[in-house]
Amino acid sequence: SKVLVTGANGYIAVWVVRRLLEQGYVVRGTVRSAAKGEHVKKLFGEYGAKFEVVVVEDIGKDGAFDDAVKGIDAIEHVASPFHYNAQDPSDLIQPAVKGTTGILQSALKYGSDVRRVVITSSTAAVMDPFDAPKVFTEADWAQKPIDDVERDGKSAPKFSWYRASKTLAEKAAWEFVRKNKESMKWDLVTLNPPYVYGPTIHEISSPDELNTSQADLYTTLLKGKDEQALATQGGSWIDVRDLARAHVLVLEKEAASWERIIVSAGPFKFQDFVDAANAVGVYPADRLTKGVPGAGKKPDVVHMIQYDNSKAKRVLGIDEYISMEECVKG
Ligand code: NDP
Repeated sequence: SKVLVTGANGYIAVWVVRRLLEQGYVVRGTVRSAAKGEHVKKLFGEYGAKFEVVVVEDIGKDGAFDDAVKGIDAIEHVASPFHYNAQDPSDLIQPAVKGTTGILQSALKYGSDVRRVVITSSTAAVMDPFDAPKVFTEADWAQKPIDDVERDGKSAPKFSWYRASKTLAEKAAWEFVRKNKESMKWDLVTLNPPYVYGPTIHEISSPDELNTSQADLYTTLLKGKDEQALATQGGSWIDVRDLARAHVLVLEKEAASWERIIVSAGPFKFQDFVDAANAVGVYPADRLTKGVPGAGKKPDVVHMIQYDNSKAKRVLGIDEYISMEECVKG
């Protein structure tokens, strides 16, 4: 069957496209300009007519995806701005929300073959920092970033702009299906991954062009944070190849219908990635930071935010995740 993948030139989406093609799907990818489609066309050239690229210039425009959804059996909506060089929160929120409701609207109007729409949401739409360690589940929704942006506008922290964009977009998706369920021939699933790390195969000409999550990790590994920061800062993570696998599984599992699914390999401190990178031996040792080996695994290390990934296991059958060593090896 034929799957539409939006933002097909992005870090995660290229892996989604690759896994879909490997599993025998036919893929149509959207990019913002013909030039941005060149690299992926080359990358997947061996698949011939099984991979095509269409240009959707502005995902925030009414009817942007009307043509793109025609003849499509399933949609993976991955495109959304994840960067910190916006001028205003609306630069992130508008394309995130409008891109999401827009593609759902197009699917409703013109996607007569569409049976499932998958949206790449984020744990950014799940968690709010809490004053004690907490394990978040799919029942949790972020609220703080929305309040921050409403109250402080541009002075709100930039991470709140991004978190607000993801939360509002996912909320808008669920609201859309609540209102339109009667006339829909498809169901909705959201995937909520934490930080995504692992090999980059989309087009970048220098490390400056790495996507946001990989840029964070790369900077940390090479230039380092101080020892204290390495041992105390972190989050939860998943390898990009596991996330791509989840994007394929979600199309194949009936039980995924209408589910919001957290896909997370587990919590980390940056020191853990530093240790993994030093252990795999593929980088010149003098380029990597060292920190204090093992400091991320000491018994007194606290992970304030963790995620329950049992639904991914139950619904998608994901019970093993790529290790940190495999992740940094690339
Ligand atoms: P990238 O920046 O590599 O890819 C983002 C994609 O979205 C690109 O194709 C980009 O197009 C497109 N895009 C961004 N803004 C717009 C816009 N205004 N109009 C049209 N297209 C746009 O990021 P990732 O691959 O990391 O992110 C992909 C998805 O995964 C996003 O939805 C993100 O929120 C989500 N996610 C990412 C995580 C991570 O750690 N990386 C964690 C959790 C969720 P162009 O190249 O032309 O700018």
